[in-house]
Amino acid sequence: MSVFKYEKDANGIVTVTMDQTGPVNAMNEEYRVAMAETVDKLEQEEGLAGVVFASAKKVFFAGGDLHELLAAEPGNEAQFMDMLRQVKDKLRRLEKLPVPVVAAINGAALGGGFEICLACNYRLAWDDKSVQLGLPEVTLGLLPGGGGVVRMVNLLGLEKALPYLLEGKKVTPVEALAEGMIHEVVPSIEDLVPRAKAWILENKGNAEAAVQLWDRKGHRIPGGDASSPKLAQLLMMAPAMLRQKTRGLLPAPEKVLDCAVEAARLDLDTALEIESAGLTYLAVTPQAKNMISTFFFGLNKVNGGASRPQGIAPYTTKKVGVLGAGMMGQGIAYVSAMAGIEVILKDISEEAAARGKAYSEKLLQKRVARGRMSEEKMQQVLGLIKPTAQDSDLTGCDLIIEAVFENIELKHKITKATEGYLADNGVWGSNTSTLPITQLAEASGKPGNFIGIHFFSPVDKMPLVEIICGEQTSDETLARAFDYTRQIRKTPIVVNDSLGFFTSRTFGTYLDEGVRLLSEGAHPVQIDAMGKAIGMPVGPLAVYDEVSLELTRKAQATWKEMGVLDKWGDGSITREVINTMVEQYGRGGRHHGGGFYEYSEDGGKTIWAKLYELYYQPEVAIDEQDMKDRLLFRPVIESLKCLQTGVLRSVADGNIGSIMGIGAPVWTGGYIQFVNTYGLQRFVDRCGELAAQYGERFAAPQIAVEHASSGELFN
Ligand code: NAD
Repeated sequence: MSVFKYEKDANGIVTVTMDQTGPVNAMNEEYRVAMAETVDKLEQEEGLAGVVFASAKKVFFAGGDLHELLAAEPGNEAQFMDMLRQVKDKLRRLEKLPVPVVAAINGAALGGGFEICLACNYRLAWDDKSVQLGLPEVTLGLLPGGGGVVRMVNLLGLEKALPYLLEGKKVTPVEALAEGMIHEVVPSIEDLVPRAKAWILENKGNAEAAVQLWDRKGHRIPGGDASSPKLAQLLMMAPAMLRQKTRGLLPAPEKVLDCAVEAARLDLDTALEIESAGLTYLAVTPQAKNMISTFFFGLNKVNGGASRPQGIAPYTTKKVGVLGAGMMGQGIAYVSAMAGIEVILKDISEEAAARGKAYSEKLLQKRVARGRMSEEKMQQVLGLIKPTAQDSDLTGCDLIIEAVFENIELKHKITKATEGYLADNGVWGSNTSTLPITQLAEASGKPGNFIGIHFFSPVDKMPLVEIICGEQTSDETLARAFDYTRQIRKTPIVVNDSLGFFTSRTFGTYLDEGVRLLSEGAHPVQIDAMGKAIGMPVGPLAVYDEVSLELTRKAQATWKEMGVLDKWGDGSITREVINTMVEQYGRGGRHHGGGFYEYSEDGGKTIWAKLYELYYQPEVAIDEQDMKDRLLFRPVIESLKCLQTGVLRSVADGNIGSIMGIGAPVWTGGYIQFVNTYGLQRFVDRCGELAAQYGERFAAPQIAVEHASSGELFN
């Protein structure tokens, strides 16, 4: 029996209900067989009046089979291309049936799912927030190879289609209707199939209803084809603008643009063939492998709770205390209240706490102004945040998160003062960015309930939370912290305690290497340009200014007191530069008198002129590839060391943490996945070269040597 249920009614309308084995419908071998049989049957069907495509799953259709895409290897391109031809052929035959075909979209239709819809004459969707439409392939290093590029260009025109293809923009049914991507929305899911059938009956005798726009005589692409003067201008600029964005590191957007332009230039069938070649090219690139591995499989693993202890009942946090209403505390209060959690926001005075609450008000007002929230909902969210200076208001909190100054004595003091207000078995979380959790927990009467909950700034925008287990943190505490993080809709990675945990420690190596290059005499502009050239959002010197040289100096003083300075390697070169900058020249960073850069009122920045005098040596010429590799390999090596020593508990946590928390270039799929496609042995060899020339910090970690010799990828 087919996994596509085939039912013909008295009016001659066939409803095809897709119900593949497994939780979702996906474009795999099972789909290909079912679709082939269905199309054969429809072509033979006597008295056929129309076809409705429906889904028996919650998600209408999930898209391409990513296991299959991951398995595509150089050498089997011809086979892959052939498979795409088969898929496209069936969709083309479907849209050429002499009767109308309607997609009745009851759930998300993304990627391949939306491509099936595009091959239907009429698309109607249930107006519900679970229904998302779009072609997100580019975000996985791919392109829509089931006709998505070609049909979107023919449907919307090049200019309107490009954001969907190049950015993978997803839309709701109402938005899709406004864009012309679908034809109708229905308020109730029960009405979907009946309405689809009614539309077919209403259009009986209307021959055009069964012919796709692009198959109609005289079809013209909206906005003109690639040779129209307006588009020619856009197309002249587009590749350069795209390259500026991708820095030449992401092949997918460039390929998408190529295929889209061809779709606006060539006949449909030729354009479809070019689109298949485009996807075949991309499917075997390391970038696609990296992005699929991490953004799909890794992220699902992490969000699905792979790092959450098993067998502990899910916990819903109802009341959270946030200590410190500064930059981080106010953000934590906002995201908690947005998730419907009651928040006690405490600072040293009522005024300071109220200022912290005002931050939420500002963010919420923006949402209301943009029509994304009602005034009533805003008041409801604000009503959940109680600003206070009284410890006793914390009574009954099931979670307290402290975000006071980064000072161990202060953190110890407030732990002692307020821990007692927690509900039975309540959890204490510290948002410290560097201090070891085990040492912070020394002030606690219940170290089993003590954990690190490390947010990233700005809290409302950054999707990651790094959960840090101290030596005594219990599984139950970890499970609760994990559940809270999911409750506020963030992605939790779980790591073991260590100075700087995973993210801060790894990120620090990028900054350190940038400053080392400076002290070796490299041109400061070139250093930051090399950081961007490997795909980092900002160069190391510019980031250092943002992080603040002043704060780094203070943190180092604390580490010295704690006897952990240079625990992860010799930081003396950077320390000397920082000390010179701050002590001699008062350059503490962007918000502390300027740093490596000079900042102008209008937001612009230029290198601080004195920096050239202090460090730049024009006669020094460091090879550009070496500079790039040094900036990339340092955090990669540090991530591997974290994995080797158990700071990282899983590869997925390391990859997701590096991408979402510290801006690892997306093309790498994260700092550990990078090694898989760079080549295990090649990585070890390159580490050896860099170590010989620039120092032992580049020596390949043992775990990399072991994987290189066994050939086992990091998974
Ligand atoms: P901040 O200086 O903006 O805010 C600290 C707040 O704590 C101030 O409002 C202060 O009045 C308040 N405070 C001090 N003592 C208090 C007490 N006894 N009781 C209640 N409140 C008190 O600092 P921040 O940037 O929000 O950082 C807070 C913590 O978060 C630090 O541990 C920091 O390392 C960590 N962190 C910061 C970032 C970041 O990017 N800024 C990122 C992650 C973690």
